[in-house]
Amino acid sequence: MMNVIPDAWLPAVPMKRVHGHWTAGGHDANETDRKAYHVLVEGDAKIVRGIPSIAANSGSIKDGYAAHTLNANTGAIGISMCGMAGAAESPFDPGRAPLTLPQWTAFIAAVTQLCRVYDIPVTPKTVLFHAEVQANLGIKQRNKWDVTRLVFDPATVGAKAIGDKMRREVSALLAGKAPAEPFEPVPEGARARVTAASLNFRSAPDGEITGSLPEGLIVEVIVIDGDWINVETPAGYRGWVSRAHVVMVDGPPAAEPTKPDPRRKMIDDIRAMLDGLEAAL
Ligand SMILES: [Zn+2]
Repeated sequence: MMNVIPDAWLPAVPMKRVHGHWTAGGHDANETDRKAYHVLVEGDAKIVRGIPSIAANSGSIKDGYAAHTLNANTGAIGISMCGMAGAAESPFDPGRAPLTLPQWTAFIAAVTQLCRVYDIPVTPKTVLFHAEVQANLGIKQRNKWDVTRLVFDPATVGAKAIGDKMRREVSALLAGKAPAEPFEPVPEGARARVTAASLNFRSAPDGEITGSLPEGLIVEVIVIDGDWINVETPAGYRGWVSRAHVVMVDGPPAAEPTKPDPRRKMIDDIRAMLDGLEAAL
């Protein structure tokens, strides 16, 4: 697998976690940004070295360490995507420097390299975004929402969903798989029919089960992400289902349930009568 961070930036010290962030600044790393993190990924996917050494955050914290996460910097590598200046959480506004897909792809490669070099397991407590720190580590943060939104993946929203996405992509790279395309193109109006007797409806790919869909239900396909599909139900709920338990349906469905053609019953009746006659021969 390709390394994206120069080896010289990665001192041989014990590290326990990787924390992902955004800078809340512009797409380029300025000096303030570089003081706060060990590694930065600019909007065009260029990797920039932060000012503190990773060694300053190892063991007992040392002068000039990277103060990237309140009360949780010991043993934690801080890596940040440059961007989200002027962004607002609710209603969501990505501001003037939204995170970019090339930036995310480089970030995933960099996190993968950090996990490999420092032998950090990919779990929600060891590889996580700042927005997950309070829930996953029990260490209070001040309303941090990096990273809970990605403008290039609008169907994946929230700290857990985006943290799970990162961990899934990093795990795939560690396992030697090529990074999956983030989405496959979904044709306009694409629909799928549920083929399982009761299909789990989830908050994220392989995520928490929030309900179930009945066999035969036609759902709108929003995003295809590998083995998982983001769908919208006729009632307007959005969630993820396993691709293995739906079939794609061509064309838009009938606006209303179609009534059986009366000739169908006649054909069935005649067929039953013919079967009866044949059986009596
Ligand atoms: Zn942060």
